[in-house]
Amino acid sequence: MSERVDALRAALQAGERIQRDDAAWLWEHADDDTLKELAGVVRARFHPPRAATYLKMAIVNYTNVCVARCDYCAFYRFPGAPDTYLLNLEQVCDKIDAMVQHGGTMVGFNGGFHPDLGLDHYTQLFSDVRGRYPLLSFYEMTVAEFMFVAKRSKMSYADAAKAFADCGTQWITGGGAEVLDDAFRLRHSPGKYKVEDFYDAQQAIVEAGMGSTGTMVIGFDETLDERMNHLDRLRSFQDDCGGRLTSFLCWTYKPYNTEAGGEEIGLREYLRWLALCRIYLDNIIHLRTSVLTRNADALQGLSWGANDFDLPTEDEVTQKAGATISHAFDEVLAAGRNAGFELIYRQPFPVGAGQPTL
Ligand code: SF4
Repeated sequence: MSERVDALRAALQAGERIQRDDAAWLWEHADDDTLKELAGVVRARFHPPRAATYLKMAIVNYTNVCVARCDYCAFYRFPGAPDTYLLNLEQVCDKIDAMVQHGGTMVGFNGGFHPDLGLDHYTQLFSDVRGRYPLLSFYEMTVAEFMFVAKRSKMSYADAAKAFADCGTQWITGGGAEVLDDAFRLRHSPGKYKVEDFYDAQQAIVEAGMGSTGTMVIGFDETLDERMNHLDRLRSFQDDCGGRLTSFLCWTYKPYNTEAGGEEIGLREYLRWLALCRIYLDNIIHLRTSVLTRNADALQGLSWGANDFDLPTEDEVTQKAGATISHAFDEVLAAGRNAGFELIYRQPFPVGAGQPTL
């Protein structure tokens, strides 16, 4: 055991990449201190060891209408259900105004797969919103939503990505990824997409010049092999696209009010997985820990390889499934400062700032 850890430590300290079987072995055999230490070695390639950055943002859920029927989702309503909604521009702006009151600088839009909305609806909405808030940054949709909109509008991913880029969209994030493994997808959301289709769409997004990110959600019934498939494919994509993914965010499944149900995983498992992600995803600069799903506990992730987080002001998707959002931001930040970190409020990352520099 110690010989293998020593060899992996030496490799990481030399700036080398570890392989999949080594990562899986670390997950199964390394103790917590070892995982933290090795994650710290990779974190230190990119960031000062005792510093971390954050911003405040809202996730604005403009519609809960969705035809995808993912069994882990407590948010969606099928078309025709009595409690469906679709926000108009003024209602969207009311939510953004509320975020600005909290000092937020970034908005992430996230909605269901609404069967009646074509690409023009989104480009118009996003253009109108950007016109009203020229100083804010926007994650305008996720790859998963982009795929649905492109198909619904009978457009290739390349043409749809060009249309968004031409209207001024800067970011389409890697959200909606959960666990990128086809067996997982078949069990939980067979109507959403297949893994290679997801990456075809993300490829078109970055080729059109927009920014994107990597995400992952753990804590369903996924196997270690499925988790490793997710990390492996993501690392390959980041290699192939020249480091265009700016950050990676991992959060945990909230099982309340969902068809899939289950138990929420504990904090220790989340932190260990964050560390493994930091060790394995050596080509993504920013690793983000999830205050949205772990509250102040998420800041422990800064000692497990994470270097960035956001303070959410709202997100209906996770709240419907049991997440609690606190606006007592100082209490959350105190958890990081008490752990010895200097916390620096940052501006939104610029597009394309995902290139490793070391
Ligand atoms: S996770 Fe997204 S795509 Fe799946 S049902 Fe919920 S809103 Fe729809």
